[in-house]
Amino acid sequence: MSEPDVGSYRRPDNLSELLTLLDRRPASVLAGGTDLVVMRAEGMVDRAHDIVDIKGVPELRGISLGADGTLTIGAATSLRELARTTVVPPNAITDGAALVGGWQTRARGTIGGNICRASPAGDTLPGVLAADAQLELASATGTRLVPGHDFFTGPGRTVRAPDELLTRIIVPASPGASAYLRFTYRLAMDLAVVGVAAHLEIENGRCVAARVALGAAAATPVPAPDAADALVGTRLDASSIEAAAQLVLNTATPIDDGRGSRAHRRTVLPVLAKRAIGIAFERAREGHRR
Ligand SMILES: Cc1cc2nc3c(=O)[nH]c(=O)nc-3n(C[C@H](O)[C@H](O)[C@H](O)COP(=O)(O)OP(=O)(O)OC[C@H]3O[C@@H](n4cnc5c(N)ncnc54)[C@H](O)[C@@H]3O)c2cc1C
Repeated sequence: MSEPDVGSYRRPDNLSELLTLLDRRPASVLAGGTDLVVMRAEGMVDRAHDIVDIKGVPELRGISLGADGTLTIGAATSLRELARTTVVPPNAITDGAALVGGWQTRARGTIGGNICRASPAGDTLPGVLAADAQLELASATGTRLVPGHDFFTGPGRTVRAPDELLTRIIVPASPGASAYLRFTYRLAMDLAVVGVAAHLEIENGRCVAARVALGAAAATPVPAPDAADALVGTRLDASSIEAAAQLVLNTATPIDDGRGSRAHRRTVLPVLAKRAIGIAFERAREGHRR
């Protein structure tokens, strides 16, 4: 009996070679492997695909702040590095990175892997939406930018083509502050039952712009525009935050699954939203920018 066809392992050391490899043959991108190794073992990815390891490409790693305040995160940056960065103050994306798994998972796992896995419960995803981040996709034929809120199309599905690589997460400069919180039954090593990210901009004591995004509340991470709009123009007093937080339910369409019932998720979401908005507000008052 012949051996099943198993793809080969490749580890390019530059982006051009990496994109050529993705162009030539069907391949699975390997970043930290904390999802991919499990997916491959469970038959969720074709074992005949080559495995292209991206961790040897230096330009895919690192966190930098441009002169105009734009934050750029390399897709192969580890969640641990992101959670501990001092390049920017704590914000919804770094909060999400800090909550993924245990330290071993964060040391291996990358933000690009978390985004491309596209789990509705992925902890950095609501922060990406709340930050209004752009995702840079590169292939042998060119580069395109996709807004975070257009990237996810379903559980485990995105607009990324098979020959495209997520190269960078680009977060525009913002005078605001943000936060992400999730609800889990255990404090560590658990996936979000639901998660909420909030981003607020404040001028003269009033909220002038807001974005709220939800995780594990629909088939993809979703913005909650009604909640965000209700915050704008208010002084973010307790009753305004409470009323806005309730409006996250307008966009939440959670399911019943092993981690929680639809009813429980809908009960927890406004509470979590109120707390996430509260933390973002505190950070904004302390002068955090992100
Ligand atoms: C014990 C454990 C606990 C976990 N806990 C959590 C948790 O609490 N919260 C959470 O959100 N996740 C959790 N995860 C899931 C996982 O760790 C994260 O999703 C992680 O961020 C994936 O990153 P990675 O670099 O390991 O991705 P990989 O496993 O290497 O890749 C994941 C997927 O993305 C693709 N991919 C990776 N990078 C790119 C790229 N740059 N361009 C295109 N495609 C790419 C791969 O082909 C694959 O399909 C946990 C996993 C484990 C094993």
